[in-house]
Amino acid sequence: MIVQMNSEATEADLARVLAVIAAGGGRAQIAPDGGVIGVGGGNGALAAALGALPGVAGVSQTGSKYPLSSRAFQAETSLVQVGEVVIGGPAPVIMAGPCTVESEAQLLETAHAVRAAGAHLLRGGAFKPRTSPYAFQGLGEAGLRLLARARAETGLPVITEVMEPGLVGLVAEYADILQIGSRNMQNYPLLRAAGRSGRPVMVKRGLAATVEEWLLAAEYVLAEGNPQVILCERGIRGFDPAVRHTLDLAAVPLAKSLSHLPVIVDPSHGTGRRGLVRAMALAGLAAGADGLLIEVHVAPEAALCDGDQSILPAELREITSRAAALRALVAA
Ligand code: PEP
Ligand code: MN
Repeated sequence: MIVQMNSEATEADLARVLAVIAAGGGRAQIAPDGGVIGVGGGNGALAAALGALPGVAGVSQTGSKYPLSSRAFQAETSLVQVGEVVIGGPAPVIMAGPCTVESEAQLLETAHAVRAAGAHLLRGGAFKPRTSPYAFQGLGEAGLRLLARARAETGLPVITEVMEPGLVGLVAEYADILQIGSRNMQNYPLLRAAGRSGRPVMVKRGLAATVEEWLLAAEYVLAEGNPQVILCERGIRGFDPAVRHTLDLAAVPLAKSLSHLPVIVDPSHGTGRRGLVRAMALAGLAAGADGLLIEVHVAPEAALCDGDQSILPAELREITSRAAALRALVAA
């Protein structure tokens, strides 16, 4: 439900409303203008109680299963800010880097190269969800330390995946944005822990998740009181082995019409083929994405993970050099 405060509402009125929501089992989120409160959960009795409180202009049921993520709660796209980077604003945000942190030399060289190529954030996995238990699983905390070093050298904020609720605290010490991977999109304890981390959270769409399930996963993070949530379309499982996944570009304008959360497109996992990354990156922006997540490696043929879909820094430059103009054209 949505609670609309009236223009004369005081701080005390707002505090009372929040207390009644909490006591009634609801989860509250205050919209940026402060006058609208989204409520997840709660029942008709809670709605009636809220409607009778001083400072409340009205209570409406949105009919949405994900009230905190919905456009009904917030008409403007949410802005998620890390350092000087604003995700969801007019400028497209490019997150780039290796699939996996492999070594100090590999990460630092790649980090400097993606920065020079126009990236705004550095990506890189330290804890890796690998299909095979025998594949390289990532450097763990040592990888996080290398990401922090790369951030110190380049000034690029860092996004990295967290796979376990028990590791959210550790990863949040190093990361500027926590990534929930597609395999974990429905790991609800993990989503809840990420929601309590104090860090922005990017929720990648599960490889067989509907858009509704994806938005409900984001809702778990929001329901913990964390408004800094980003969605990422990274392809769903199709039938054709010619591509690794089917990048669902229609999901971008769909998610953006249903939700105020910014949407990022990942053309790397969405195709699995480096030769398709540039076209699908630009197509993602044309579909209205707020930014891109792209795997870049200085020597893709030697990559320990996802080399086939990793592009060279020079190819990233070709994407970033077109991105701002393309987004402006779409927004116009
Ligand atoms: C990744 O970004 O490296 C990754 C593992 O992505 P996904 O969860 O989309 O497979
Ligand atoms: Mn990868």
